[in-house]
Amino acid sequence: MLKHVNSGVKMSGKYCRFCSRPAAVRIRYSGLLVCKNHFMEYFEKRVLRTIRKYKMIQEGDKVLLGVSGGKDSIVLLHILADFQNVLKFEVIPLFIDLGIQLGNYSRISCKVVEENCKKLGLDVNIVKIQDEYGLSIDKIFTKKLKRPICSVCGLIKRYVLNRKALEFSADKVATGHNLNDEATVLLQNIVNTNIDLLSKFGPVQPALKGLLVGRIKPFFETYEDEISLYANFKSLDYVDIACPYSEDALSLKLKTIITKLEDIRPGSALTMVRGFYKKIKPLLQGAQEEKINKCKICKMPTSTEICSFCRLKQRIAKQILSTTS
Ligand code: SF4
Ligand code: ZN
Ligand code: ZN
Repeated sequence: MLKHVNSGVKMSGKYCRFCSRPAAVRIRYSGLLVCKNHFMEYFEKRVLRTIRKYKMIQEGDKVLLGVSGGKDSIVLLHILADFQNVLKFEVIPLFIDLGIQLGNYSRISCKVVEENCKKLGLDVNIVKIQDEYGLSIDKIFTKKLKRPICSVCGLIKRYVLNRKALEFSADKVATGHNLNDEATVLLQNIVNTNIDLLSKFGPVQPALKGLLVGRIKPFFETYEDEISLYANFKSLDYVDIACPYSEDALSLKLKTIITKLEDIRPGSALTMVRGFYKKIKPLLQGAQEEKINKCKICKMPTSTEICSFCRLKQRIAKQILSTTS
């Protein structure tokens, strides 16, 4: 975890490891003291190293980036836009309008994404789930499905990202999931003893030709508070209001456990996530081999006959019929 230490003369004797400027940041898990400029350089190099270490991007790749407007995806948008020349690939930003009118959340988020893309000279693609699939999170929430709203929302986002990536002939789908998110997911899957999801855990998800575009998480080894600090140092505009449905998210509650763990032992999340991926995941390979089919309705990948997205649409359609008849 990272502590933001005040810069200036008061920090007597605390200077940046790399230059003579006073230190502005102390990275707790490594004890590194750095000034603002060297923190940003350290941050960018670390993300670049993660991309290279896990072979996330190859020369000539088209990378579809899901940008929600939150700090993680906005920082990733800026970082990937910068890396385009170094790694020789193309980034394609995509905003999914989830139809959250409560607090104008979707509208505000869309505007933030559009403005950031404009600054970077990138064209943004916008998918309105209401227009394309007749769905909206506001509407689904009123249906009181058994599944938590954030889980349904996650399903929709994964589906739309994959479908659009196939339409755009993208080689990868990138998302802004950070180290704290990954540690939380790992904890949740351990608690649920979900071997299937544990065996798929990692920074890179492989592609399935014509069905599933490979997924990458460039912030797999980057702490959330490092991302916040980078966004603030760079004065980036991002949505800093919470989604009106986020209170219900179990993951937010589990995330506080990861934060506590970091307070007790800095670097725990990094050790846990890296260690699981490197040492434990290989032991689970082949534990849950599942056959992938094409959904009978939409032709997207599924392990059953009809994919979860189409089943969700059917369930909602049935509910509308039963309330109108
Ligand atoms: Fe979707 Fe839940 Fe995130 Fe809101 S908090 S955008 S409902 S996943
Ligand atoms: Zn420095
Ligand atoms: Zn389907």
